[in-house]
Amino acid sequence: TVHIRKLVKSFGSHTVLKDINVDIALGEVCVLIGPSGSGKSTLLRCIDGLEEIDSGVLKVNGEHLGYAEVDTHFRPLSRIERRRQRTQIGMVFQQFNLFPNLTALENITVGQTMVKKTSKSEARERALELLARVGLQGHDDHYPIQLSGGQQQRVAIARSLAMDPKVMLFDEPTSALDPELVGDVLDVMRQLADDGMTMLVTTHEMGFAREVANSLLFMADGYIVERGDPREVLADPKEARTKQFLKKVL
Ligand code: ATP
Ligand code: MG
Repeated sequence: TVHIRKLVKSFGSHTVLKDINVDIALGEVCVLIGPSGSGKSTLLRCIDGLEEIDSGVLKVNGEHLGYAEVDTHFRPLSRIERRRQRTQIGMVFQQFNLFPNLTALENITVGQTMVKKTSKSEARERALELLARVGLQGHDDHYPIQLSGGQQQRVAIARSLAMDPKVMLFDEPTSALDPELVGDVLDVMRQLADDGMTMLVTTHEMGFAREVANSLLFMADGYIVERGDPREVLADPKEARTKQFLKKVL
């Protein structure tokens, strides 16, 4: 579902992603770890189309992100085409990023009506269903400020799911939460994984990596240094760089 080859991304003279090669299969759950500043968020932002890549291949669902392949060359997608393409990818951020002036329900309906042109009643129906799915039935009229961080994050997940993404990206979704709220968000993510969603997650929750993920990627210095079964990598990392990192975080 996600196919990345020789991806390079720089900010000015600083090359953050030097040669990234990753495949994520349909229904696979990948956890991405690595030192602060190693480019985890940047990689997720590239896949979400929030950052332009310098070079390489980045395909989601068989489509080049931001480009259409025409015979032997590439043409940049129009704004509308990009928008349609981006609905296939959902992203959840550390800081929830809900619209503060909209209720939980409206946060979930707005993308559906504006981007997907779903009818108001249909969007509402779907939003209520999604609120229930993330354990927030009865909270539809609450504004973000009236919700706990964990509840806000679950609304953010529901909002992403409302676009029917094929892939969900999570950038440290529980890092901003009080410890007692982390579990509810992880439970929703675990449920999503069980339902077969393709997911790429950066997190410090090694329990989640161990129990839910199919593969663990360790990233450092602009490269994917190691990839493998989460239990194996955590218990017995092969690369010196991975060992050094895990010694600090485990
Ligand atoms: P953390 O674990 O702290 O979240 P990370 O692995 O997510 O770190 P990134 O946020 O992807 O790391 O940042 C990678 C590098 O790219 C850092 O050196 C950062 O300063 C730089 N960087 C990220 N975004 C930009 C930007 N918009 N402009 C310039 N430099 C940037
Ligand atoms: Mg980050």
